[in-house]
Amino acid sequence: MSETSFYTRAAFYWANVPATIDGILGGFGHISDIDIDGSKAFLREIFRFKNPPGRQLALDCGAGIGRISKNLLIPLFDKVDLVEQDEKFVDAAKKFIGENNRHLGTVYNIGLQHFKPQKMYDVIWCQWVLGHLNDYDLISFLERCNDALIRDGVIIIKENITTTNEVDYDEEDSSITRPYELMKQIIDEARLQILKTDIQLGFPDDIYPVYTFALAPIEPSDIEIV
Ligand code: SAH
Repeated sequence: MSETSFYTRAAFYWANVPATIDGILGGFGHISDIDIDGSKAFLREIFRFKNPPGRQLALDCGAGIGRISKNLLIPLFDKVDLVEQDEKFVDAAKKFIGENNRHLGTVYNIGLQHFKPQKMYDVIWCQWVLGHLNDYDLISFLERCNDALIRDGVIIIKENITTTNEVDYDEEDSSITRPYELMKQIIDEARLQILKTDIQLGFPDDIYPVYTFALAPIEPSDIEIV
């Protein structure tokens, strides 16, 4: 399939999904609270690092209707920016979070494959969206995020991972699910290192395992000189 149709099919799929938690989670709205609790616990551990990220500015990538911004990031950060490609979800997110919420920052209505961060972030959160980018675009996107991290900042990826070594293509929403090894390779290519990883517990058995990664730039001192 051409790259254009990979992206346009996904945009078409989401354009026809209702702006509800259940819509955004493909009928799995009931797992939202478990997901958010797992993410809170993960972030709590990140904040216990010797050099933890700051709490000023976070970015929610592929934000949908703002489920993660509202329930996870806004209670923890002074400001939260969102990137979301679907216009109807952008409008819904502003309403869901509350346009006058003083923690709501800039909302960018653009695909991640085109998005260039305009600010520097403490935490960049990417969940259930990176399967909509091809490997090449994902590496460049992560490189741009890498350049947009404040000192001690982290990128969090929370995504489905296959249980085989194959990439799965989902025709319905035009997304791919990657095996762990491929994710790791892409992370390496973007010159990021994994600080911490976890598997979300408590999800139904019949869905993909969901992994969370905390990533930071590879420091020059981490690179072996040969
Ligand atoms: N991360 C949110 C939403 C997940 S649903 C949450 O966990 O609640 C996936 C979202 O990604 C949808 O809102 C969809 O419109 C968006 N999306 C799909 N392709 C995208 C792309 N290329 N760039 C940015 N957002 C995209």
